[in-house]
Formats: sequence, C-alpha cells, structure tokens
Amino acid sequence: AAPVSIVAGLGHAARNGILIKGGRRLDTLAAVDALAFDKTGTLTAGRPEVVAVHTLAGPTGTESDETAEASLLRLAGAVEKGSEHPLAAALLERAARARGVGSIPDPQRLRVYPGRGVAAHVGGQRVLVGNQRLMEAEGVHPAPRAAELAALEESQGRTAVLVAVDGRVAGVLALADRVRESAARMMEELRQAGVRRTVILTGDGELTAGMVARSVGIDEVRARLLPEEKVREVARLKAQGYTVAMVGEGINDAPALAAADVSIAIGAGGTDAAMEAADVALIADDLEKIPYAIGLAKAIVANIR
Ligand code: ADP
Ligand code: MG
Repeated sequence: AAPVSIVAGLGHAARNGILIKGGRRLDTLAAVDALAFDKTGTLTAGRPEVVAVHTLAGPTGTESDETAEASLLRLAGAVEKGSEHPLAAALLERAARARGVGSIPDPQRLRVYPGRGVAAHVGGQRVLVGNQRLMEAEGVHPAPRAAELAALEESQGRTAVLVAVDGRVAGVLALADRVRESAARMMEELRQAGVRRTVILTGDGELTAGMVARSVGIDEVRARLLPEEKVREVARLKAQGYTVAMVGEGINDAPALAAADVSIAIGAGGTDAAMEAADVALIADDLEKIPYAIGLAKAIVANIR
C-alpha cells in the first residue's frame, strides 16, 4: 500500500464514515488476521420479520386457530415491549397489526436474559419469549411438536422463537432477516487484506447461522452462545495467536467486543454505547468499510516505520 500520513489517513477514513479512535490502535488494526462477527444486526440487516406463527393446542384444545393466534401474539408482543432486541421490534410490530389482538398490555416483573430472550407477567400469566436456552433456564420442557417446529424453521435459515405461557410452550414464531448485501464482497476483500480466519459468534441456532455463513463465505460458526461464551471464543482465537477484531452492534455482544484486540461497532441498529466504546466505529452502515479500514491502517503504519 502507498504510504499515508496519520492525519491524512484518519481524515480520509472519517470522511468515509469510519471513526478510528486512539492512534495507538492503528498498529493492532493493521495486524488483524482473524475476524469474529456477531450475526443478528451485523451480518444481517437487523430488521427481521415474522414469517410464520405456529400455535400449539391449548389445555382445552377448543380455541379456534384465529383466537389462539391472536392471544399468542398479544402475550408475546406484551413481553417484547420490554426488550430492545431487533427480534422484539419485529414481534411487537407483527402483534400490533394482527387481527383480533386489540391493545397490547404492558409487561410486569420483566426480566431480560441476554442471548436467550425475555420473561414477564402479562395479566395473571407468566410468559417467556425466547430460545431453547431460555426455556431450560426457566425449567420449561417444550413438547416434541414445539421442538420439531423450531427445528423445521431453523433448517430454512429462520430464527425460531418459543412462547411459553404458564410453563407450557404455546407457540413457535419464525423470523427471517436479510443477509447484508455487502457481506460476501467484504469477505473477499478481507482475505486480500490479510485476514486468515473468520468466525460467526451468535446466540442464534447453528442451522440459521450456518445458512448465513455459507451465503457470505465465513469459515466457522459458533452458535447458541451466551454473551460470556462469545467472550470465551474471542479469547480462544487470541490464545491461538491471532490478532482478533470483533464486529458487533452492542446488543448481547458488548463483552465480546471488549475482549477483542480491536472492537468494531456497526452504526445502524447498533447501540450508542457500543459506538462510543469501540476502537473503530462505522457510522456508514457498510461492512466493506472494514477491509478498507484494515488496509488504511496498514498504509499508515507502513509510512510511520
Ligand atoms: P446474535 O448473537 O445472533 O446477535 P443474540 O445473542 O442477540 O443473537 O440473541 C440470541 C438468541 O436469543 C436469538 O436468536 C433469540 O433466539 C433469543 N433472543 C434474544 N433476545 C430475544 C428477544 N427479545 N425475544 C426473543 N428472543 C430473543
Ligand atoms: Mg446481535
């Protein structure tokens, strides 16, 4: 790369929507050879949509399908009022426009489980909205039919969310999110910038994550991770001798961002706190800025030496 001065280089980056903070990080950014990516909101657009609603027969089995669906969405929507997760916005939006749902009540005694989902009381009922790990944490055992539906949806690359009411899984919701268009191109450019290893670290299931990995060309998937398990995966890469950059949006991946040699936060959909704490903040919501930033850091460092 052609030599570039620090001031010119950082100015050029900033004009391209890339804030590189702390000059001492430039060496590290130039040396990055492994990238770990969060999935939802990072490799995907982070604007998931509900694409299927499956209700499971209630205790009486006498409700009509339409009534069962409306009450399922009403309860799930109420709980998601308490979450900032991209999935929450999608579920709430779907509930709000469903027929027969009416107004969505506020949740009580809300508890957010990072990487798993949300639990709350709605009216007199205790409702859980989240993945298998949330059900395990709360002692709920999904019926075989619920597990089957979840696996079926995940095999199509969708995120399956279980809804439990008073200890029983009452429905399975499926959400789909688009992979960012620039993701596959970015992977190619990263290899040209000297990156030798790429990994998805996600709280989502392996089937869903595997589809994303294959479509963008990522080597490795670590799925069903809690936030602290993402940290462990970053540490494992570092222990193997890689200089690791973690790319995320700050929801359930802030600890992993902090554990990496270089943290890269992505603008749209991401949290302000993540943008503030990151070594590299991408204001422009474009993954291809990552290989560009690594290349630029290499050019600046070559000029200093
Ligand atoms: P990622 O690592 O892909 O960004 P997260 O760690 O944010 O995903 O979430 C992991 C999983 O936890 C989701 O795929 C979903 O199953 C569950 N989950 C998290 N938050 C919620 C929520 N508010 N509602 C429903 N499910 C949730
Ligand atoms: Mg995420």
